[in-house]
Amino acid sequence: MIKKPNKPSVMIVDDTPANIRVLAESLRRDYRIRVATSGREALDLIAHVGPPDLLLLDVMMPEMDGYEICRRLKSAPETRNVPVIFVTARAEAADEEYGLKLGAVDYIVKPFHLPIVTARVRNHIELKQKTDLLESLAMLDGLTGIPNRRRFDQTLADEWLRARRDGERLSLLILDIDHFKEYNDHFGHAGGDRCLTKVAEALAQGVNRAGDLVARYGGEEFIALLPDTDADGAREVAARFRETVELLALPHPLSRAASHVTISVGFATLTPASGGGAETLLKLADTMLYRAKEQGRNRICGLDSAQAAE
Ligand code: GH3
Ligand code: MG
Ligand code: MG
Repeated sequence: MIKKPNKPSVMIVDDTPANIRVLAESLRRDYRIRVATSGREALDLIAHVGPPDLLLLDVMMPEMDGYEICRRLKSAPETRNVPVIFVTARAEAADEEYGLKLGAVDYIVKPFHLPIVTARVRNHIELKQKTDLLESLAMLDGLTGIPNRRRFDQTLADEWLRARRDGERLSLLILDIDHFKEYNDHFGHAGGDRCLTKVAEALAQGVNRAGDLVARYGGEEFIALLPDTDADGAREVAARFRETVELLALPHPLSRAASHVTISVGFATLTPASGGGAETLLKLADTMLYRAKEQGRNRICGLDSAQAAE
């Protein structure tokens, strides 16, 4: 589930092309190199192709200096974690202190000894990769390996804002395994864990659009977020989920809903309005799940925004 990184990317920003050339030549073998000769160009490039794994940043440049670039990157969530190394002719201790306090990971004074620069780049890239790995692990559920609630909450907040901006519908499904307490009672906790893992795998394969997210919400509850999807689409995915779990044919002798493991699904579809938050959508889907349970389990209940307004 964790993407294996290809060559890490290093961006070099300096208003003197000759300085860029020296660094680029010695780093090209191990890294993808991007270059910019001004602060504006650097920020545009980052906005277009995404943040690099490391930034080598000159300080003295016309219009926007390196300190300012660093300050801007550190104040935006998407670029906050980019390690910045200043590479500068400003050798005063106060300059270095200033740069480090802005959040740079290192400060190299020109003229530099090239092998030291490449060694420092390598060290900081290694650290960055470890941090990225830890961050991605922190977003995965330890038992089932699918995204966890933390990841879901973050994605929901992002997608809610995006849907509001673009005037798109957002569908949310909450799924809960029926009579799972009894499953544990019968098969033991380890058996219950195996069941959760199989259900998670099946659900993860039940969506196919790039933006769709299936996560373990907690316990025996799962959740799915379907951006730009109307109620018909949500109902279709819910039906697929229900069927997928049914097809696993995991025996559940103590279930009163069926002789095998089943799920109940609640879903809701909304076009985010400027006022309310994403909790509205969660709450509606949860209410629908409750209704599905009440009506006998192993079924789907949902509503779209028109019904929600009633
Ligand atoms: P309902 O059909 O109404 O959903 O009934 P239920 O028994 O599934 O729901 P309830 O909320 O009463 O019980 C959920 C059970 O899920 C209780 C708990 O022991 C079990 N459970 C929660 N997390 C885990 C887990 O990580 N592993 C295992 N094995 N069991 C878990
Ligand atoms: Mg539950
Ligand atoms: Mg349950």
